[in-house]
Amino acid sequence: MSSEAYDIVVVGGGTAGSFAAATAAQRGLDVVLLERKSEQAAGHIACGDAIKGKSTFPDVIDLDYLREESFTNENIEHALFEVPDGDTIDYPFETGSGAIVDRKRYGEVLLEEAERVGAEIHYDTVVRDVRQNGTVEGVEAVRNGEARRYDAEVVVDAAGALSILQDRADLADATFDTNVTYQQCCSAYREIIEVEEPVEWDDAIVFKPTEELGYLWYFPRTATEINVGLGFQMDREPMELVDVLRADIRDRPEFENATVKDKLGAALPTRRPYDSATAPGYVAVGDAAGHVNPTTGGGIPGAAKAGHWAADVAADAIADGDTDESALWEYNRRVLTDFGKRFAAMDLYNIFGGTHSVEDLTDVLSALPAQQLIDILGRTGTASMGLGLKLKTLKDTFGHWGTLYDAYKVNKRATELKEIYDGYPETPAGFADWREKRDAFMTDFYDEFGAEPKY
Ligand SMILES: Cc1cc2nc3c(=O)[nH]c(=O)nc-3n(C[C@H](O)[C@H](O)[C@H](O)COP(=O)(O)OP(=O)(O)OC[C@H]3O[C@@H](n4cnc5c(N)ncnc54)[C@H](O)[C@@H]3O)c2cc1C
Repeated sequence: MSSEAYDIVVVGGGTAGSFAAATAAQRGLDVVLLERKSEQAAGHIACGDAIKGKSTFPDVIDLDYLREESFTNENIEHALFEVPDGDTIDYPFETGSGAIVDRKRYGEVLLEEAERVGAEIHYDTVVRDVRQNGTVEGVEAVRNGEARRYDAEVVVDAAGALSILQDRADLADATFDTNVTYQQCCSAYREIIEVEEPVEWDDAIVFKPTEELGYLWYFPRTATEINVGLGFQMDREPMELVDVLRADIRDRPEFENATVKDKLGAALPTRRPYDSATAPGYVAVGDAAGHVNPTTGGGIPGAAKAGHWAADVAADAIADGDTDESALWEYNRRVLTDFGKRFAAMDLYNIFGGTHSVEDLTDVLSALPAQQLIDILGRTGTASMGLGLKLKTLKDTFGHWGTLYDAYKVNKRATELKEIYDGYPETPAGFADWREKRDAFMTDFYDEFGAEPKY
């Protein structure tokens, strides 16, 4: 078996891997990114293509070039939520607008940019095993049919949801979170369709709740090219994703004679971020560490930040000559005191949602004024609600007050959980105590809302 040695080996050429490789190269390290797909197929990844905007991305590649090449619709100013009784609720975005990208081109540019700033990219390279002697020391892969060994000071696992590296590595002695199951993921499928006439809602992302705690989406890449898709939680009864999507498309007059340009499905983690995504010589990023907003399925911004922070911390560790878990720990702290705490808090709404029927939840949603829903989800609070509006809301939500009250309680609990994450330990020494405290909080939460434990 031929072998090569690098400072950092990144496995996976999606958002997380590309940002990790670009950051490592910018820090002057010798880095290779291994991607199982061919150069032509790389970047072809199942996605709704919706992101918040280029400001979300770490500044280690040419973000203007990324935007010019792949942002096809930068005018997303509101979300439309279609509820089963036929009503549509309009939620304007508070700050800035969102964007829809051409995911394939976006992925190609990320890889192109990682290479331009100095990372080596090996396409057609499937990682099969992790090399480990206590510490992770590299990976074994097959490149164009030939077995290869890649040695590294640090391996960055950016291989996506349910990464094979985590099956192969022995992480039992590390703090690395191994409490991970496929039931904590969502199975999702999307098509890119082309319609004959421009849609009227090309400045909006459109959602519609489905059975099994999921939603259907219509995201306009342009006024005539729409990303349509849906997903369901894998702890629920499986859904016939393609059939449900086709049926909904058929019912919409604006999609008459639409043609399908592309189809793709995948799993995505709709769970809290890993409590720890480090082990000696090893760090997991993006979907491989649960860095997805568990209520929306948005994982691109988290993957980009995590990839960047992981490589940054790994670069410091390599410079100090110590890649043990304590040297990589700062990465866990950055994630879990930043977007990680918000995602962990959002996960409470998923757990709470699982205790109610979809009808009950959508009835409450459709009766609430948009601002109140935003308040429930924890932005500002409810004091600003005038008496008239309060009375109207009470009348409209009649029959669902229990659910509504519970939703307010979840909001309060979410704030408490974020405070626990703010106290994430600075070293692995405090990890067991922190986890005990967080687990006690979760036990109370499950009891309070009659939910099945998710972890
Ligand atoms: C249907 C769907 C819709 C979504 N919609 C949105 C959305 O609208 N907005 C949003 O922000 N997020 C969305 N997400 C989530 C988002 O796509 C992911 O969170 C994000 O892509 C994660 O990036 P990543 O780099 O961690 O993993 P990935 O993008 O999955 O990249 C992993 C890479 O690793 C490679 N790989 C895997 N195993 C190996 C191996 N053994 N050897 C070598 N290479 C390997 C894969 O080929 C792939 O290129 C959606 C996800 C799905 C499935």
